Amino acid sequence: MTGPLLDVRDLNAYYGQSHVLHGVNLYVNPGEVVSLIGRNGAGKTTTLKSVMGVLRSRTGRVTFAGEDITRLPSHRVAARGLAWVPEERAIMGTLSVRENLELPPARPGGWSTERALETFPVLRERGHHPGSKLSGGEQQMLAIVRVLRSGPRLLLLDEPSEGLAPVIVQGIAKIIENLRADGMGVLLVEQNLKFAARLADRHYVFVDGHIVDEVARSEVETRRGDLLGALSV
Ligand code: ATP
Repeated sequence: MTGPLLDVRDLNAYYGQSHVLHGVNLYVNPGEVVSLIGRNGAGKTTTLKSVMGVLRSRTGRVTFAGEDITRLPSHRVAARGLAWVPEERAIMGTLSVRENLELPPARPGGWSTERALETFPVLRERGHHPGSKLSGGEQQMLAIVRVLRSGPRLLLLDEPSEGLAPVIVQGIAKIIENLRADGMGVLLVEQNLKFAARLADRHYVFVDGHIVDEVARSEVETRRGDLLGALSV
């Protein structure tokens, strides 16, 4: 494959009459972590939903591994190798950890139950506990490892560090670094600049549904003020 893994061109998205994304252009290469940062309501989650085909009311072009996926329904987008972990994590509180983990079928090339439980022993320990009894960090691990069962090549993560203790955030960062080392692309929505700066190779800055800036890892130190400004209320 030549060219980026994900290529988004001139994306506009709407909720009813409300025009919320304005000509968004972005790309993610294989083995690259890219962050979307900006204030609440800037359009970051809407970008993930538009890429996944969950939000259908949009124009522009979304290309994945060279294939135009703009018009595909979300289940077919997922089958192409994109996986979305939404902010609310979507853990079923009444199902056990193991049942949650095995909800999606493991696809060829995807993570098996055994691999998941070996990588995250805490999920094995809590295997029979209901999902509702997990801590926020355990829920986030479960949400990530569950989507890996489909063997995605691009992971869309919506605020994975939100509400988690610093030590747990370190653990989640390590998971993402390992996935990147395996060649996976990651598109990360974040409001935690420290976390995003540790992980991301590039940052896109969102303001009011527009990408107004792009900052490479090498520029983060000198441009920290601009990045913090984009996040402050
Ligand atoms: P947050 O961190 O608060 O989710 P965000 O940058 O991800 O911020 P979006 O959730 O993408 O922002 O929201 C972009 C805009 O779209 C906001 O003005 C928001 O109020 C609006 N919006 C989001 N979801 C809906 C919806 N279901 N119906 C109508 N408007 C919506």
